Amino acid sequence: MARKSEKSGEAAARIVAPEPDGADEALDRSLRPSRLADFVGQPQLKDALSIALTAAQRRGEPPDHLLFYGPPGLGKTTLARIVAAELGVNLRASSGPAIARPGDLAGLLTTLQEGDVLFIDEMHRLPHAVEEVLYPAMEDFALDLLIGKGPGARSVRLQIKRFTLVGATTRYALISSPLRDRFGMVQRLEFYRPEDLVGLVRTNAAKLEIPISNHGAVLLARRARGTPRIANRLLRRVRDYAEVRGDGTIDTAVAEEALARLGVDSLGLDDRDRALLRTLIERFGGGPVGLETLAASVAEESDTVMDVYEPFLLQLGFLQRTPRGRLAMPAAWEHLGVAPPEESTGEAAQPSLFEPGGEAAPAEPSDA
Ligand code: ADP
Repeated sequence: MARKSEKSGEAAARIVAPEPDGADEALDRSLRPSRLADFVGQPQLKDALSIALTAAQRRGEPPDHLLFYGPPGLGKTTLARIVAAELGVNLRASSGPAIARPGDLAGLLTTLQEGDVLFIDEMHRLPHAVEEVLYPAMEDFALDLLIGKGPGARSVRLQIKRFTLVGATTRYALISSPLRDRFGMVQRLEFYRPEDLVGLVRTNAAKLEIPISNHGAVLLARRARGTPRIANRLLRRVRDYAEVRGDGTIDTAVAEEALARLGVDSLGLDDRDRALLRTLIERFGGGPVGLETLAASVAEESDTVMDVYEPFLLQLGFLQRTPRGRLAMPAAWEHLGVAPPEESTGEAAQPSLFEPGGEAAPAEPSDA
């Protein structure tokens, strides 16, 4: 867990970090939807999950093991909790780095009740030896224990209760194929559409009794990088501003001012995102530049750049991963107000991203 908390610590300084900070955890808990019907967005995933859960319940069996993957803050943990709630069973939660030895996993598995959900976050960080123990548990609900040492050692098979493993990862590519194959359902979480996040902001503002105008909600939703956790965090921070500087209502003016003070720009990028893009553009001529070099130039871990910075920049069409390294796309130059060199525009021709009001530059709402 050490690494995860280090990462969260780093991320805590960023208002738009998709990973939770200390204050988020309480908010996450209070705002986390507990039923599938209250989970906004991700319609295809919800549909597939609802069918799988209903079918399993009708058969009186635990559903297949489920793997959710995608950037942090999109709802993987929330879904694991929803699966347990919908099935009316207990949830045991752990994470890849916390299950250091096969014995740790055996300890978890043997305490499960029939039908329980075991949630393992950061699945890609499970040690290989632990993964080996997980295979028979997932397939046959069995634990193969080695008794004794040396030539006299023998393997004993212990039956465990049937359970559903819900795995989550930000790095699908790092999940080994034997492990992937043992999940009956693998679902990718997508960034949320602004309209889904508007609904989320409104619902959560109502729960927290925060008065918010329609346009105020639209503005927060548009700057939340398609990520519910960030939408909730912006709501909390902008509420503070509204209470101190205004009458407590979040309208367009209050939201604009608060977000400007927090350094969140019209697309939801903060100073650190802009610093990364600026480094790529100004120091490396827009790239391509290797991940390690880029990360070192902005004093970040390459994992953080990959998991935290890049997914949204890729989604915006600001960045491309090429075999030769990271490449800044014309829209990124445009956003920073730097003219791209001729060849860069040619290589990465994406004219629509230059159109004012196009996808990369949504018009800001106004209360008028
Ligand atoms: P992840 O595990 O993918 O990092 P979480 O499940 O912890 O993300 O989600 C972060 C927070 O965002 C949750 O506590 C919840 O409040 C909110 N959230 C995430 N997805 C949704 C959703 N689809 N609908 C409503 N709230 C959501």
